[in-house]
Amino acid sequence: MTGSNLKIELEKLIGKNKVSSDIGDRLCFSRDVTPICYKWIDLYKLPPYICDVVVSPENTEDVIKIVQFAKKNKIKIFIYGGGSGVVGGVIPTEGGITIDMSRMSKVVILDEESLTIEVESGIIGQNLEDFLNKKNYTLRHFPQSIRSASVGGFIATKSTGQFSTKYGGIENYVTGLEVVLPDGNVLITSDKPRSSTGPDINNFFIGSEGIFGIITRAILKIYKMPEKVIYHCFIYEDIFSALDSIREIMQTGLKPPVIRLYNREESRQKFAKLGFDYDGCLMILCFEGNSELVDAESEVAQKICTKMKAKNIGDELGKLWFDNRFDTRHILEKEEEFGGVSDAIELAASWSKIKKLYADVESYFRKKQITLASHFSHAYTTGISVYNIFFLNVKDEEEAIKRFYAVWNDVMEIALNNDATISHHHGIGIIKKDKLREELNEGINILENLKEKLDPDNIINPDKLITKMI
Ligand SMILES: Cc1cc2nc3c(=O)[nH]c(=O)nc-3n(C[C@H](O)[C@H](O)[C@H](O)COP(=O)(O)OP(=O)(O)OC[C@H]3O[C@@H](n4cnc5c(N)ncnc54)[C@H](O)[C@@H]3O)c2cc1C
Repeated sequence: MTGSNLKIELEKLIGKNKVSSDIGDRLCFSRDVTPICYKWIDLYKLPPYICDVVVSPENTEDVIKIVQFAKKNKIKIFIYGGGSGVVGGVIPTEGGITIDMSRMSKVVILDEESLTIEVESGIIGQNLEDFLNKKNYTLRHFPQSIRSASVGGFIATKSTGQFSTKYGGIENYVTGLEVVLPDGNVLITSDKPRSSTGPDINNFFIGSEGIFGIITRAILKIYKMPEKVIYHCFIYEDIFSALDSIREIMQTGLKPPVIRLYNREESRQKFAKLGFDYDGCLMILCFEGNSELVDAESEVAQKICTKMKAKNIGDELGKLWFDNRFDTRHILEKEEEFGGVSDAIELAASWSKIKKLYADVESYFRKKQITLASHFSHAYTTGISVYNIFFLNVKDEEEAIKRFYAVWNDVMEIALNNDATISHHHGIGIIKKDKLREELNEGINILENLKEKLDPDNIINPDKLITKMI
């Protein structure tokens, strides 16, 4: 079916004002924040993949109609939440229909007794947080992209936020889902605190990157606003003794929502940007919640850090971090430079493997003479994630794309050799999928078999997450 016929047929189904074949809309919804998308525009003026039509459903019934129509006519569907993904998850690699979820953004039910909220999946994270804050509640899921990412995107990518060390990733929030499956049927999982009724069906969709269906609603845990918030900042001579402190903090049973440790390079950039004259590795620690618990946790944590010879520099840098925590200009501006590219490679490993992983990654970038700023965050009792931001300057855009893929390939190899995950929270998309099999082993066959059963014609989000094309 051609673009104009497709538009006419979809308009008949869901209404005229919900379908667009305008080139501006098609371009806008055919890309995300993956560095290659910036380069494509410079290189080719038009990206290589453009959807034929953009549909903006207003309710689950619209989504069902779109899916049934696409299945019947064997037209591909791509799902666009907030478009803030960084692995190409929304790129319409086979044209077809892109579903823009932004009109499905209502709050459905706030359950103040159970502390849960049901929302339509297109709601943007910050809008949900603002709604909750007005009622003295909070989600406490703060990915840096909160102002542009949607709840559906959070769930589909298995995202995590800056306060995850206490509250967990999005998987710790979801208690129920509504999903339009690839055959047009609707799955509703109701909200229970826990159940032993087989594998948790929600988990098939958390991190599914849309390949198993379109998430239309979600029930999420919420929290009361914390009574007290305290920041502490420490400077360490070396990064490994700081890592030992974090391990001890976590394994002692403390629950800091924020624990961030910057390597020397990223600390240097932070100190310079904020006008401080320190040297060493900066650690920011936060405790929040009930006042008495916060004071007790703070005291224990400070003892652990000073035992490791850290210098306590007060709370100012922590508060400044909090105020500026959504500012990512220094990374995104790089993509707009001719021949410039930067990206964040978010790995994670258990405590017994993290130091070697960090050393191997650091040595790789040093040998290649590529600037690297790294920090550790999202800590667990068993390990921690490390966020590696690299900055490249090469002669032109084509070379930038080549080097971008080469760096990713090499660093994922280093991760796999160190038994680390190739993605702690950004997902796989189209950028990392060639390496997923190495990490998941037999697991990838399970995903492929599930996809084949649920979506035999490979209609929804093809080419994402799993490699095998059906
Ligand atoms: C500056 C910046 C900072 C970031 N910081 C963080 C961070 O701190 N933590 C973090 O985890 N991520 C972060 N990200 C990555 C990104 O914001 C997350 O992956 C986010 O969860 C994507 O949400 P989205 O709504 O924008 O999804 P999109 O980009 O629209 O889509 C991402 C994937 O999810 C699928 N999808 C979207 N909506 C649905 C739905 N309703 N049903 C089924 N599938 C769907 C899409 O098809 C695609 O495969 C950052 C990105 C940027 C650009």
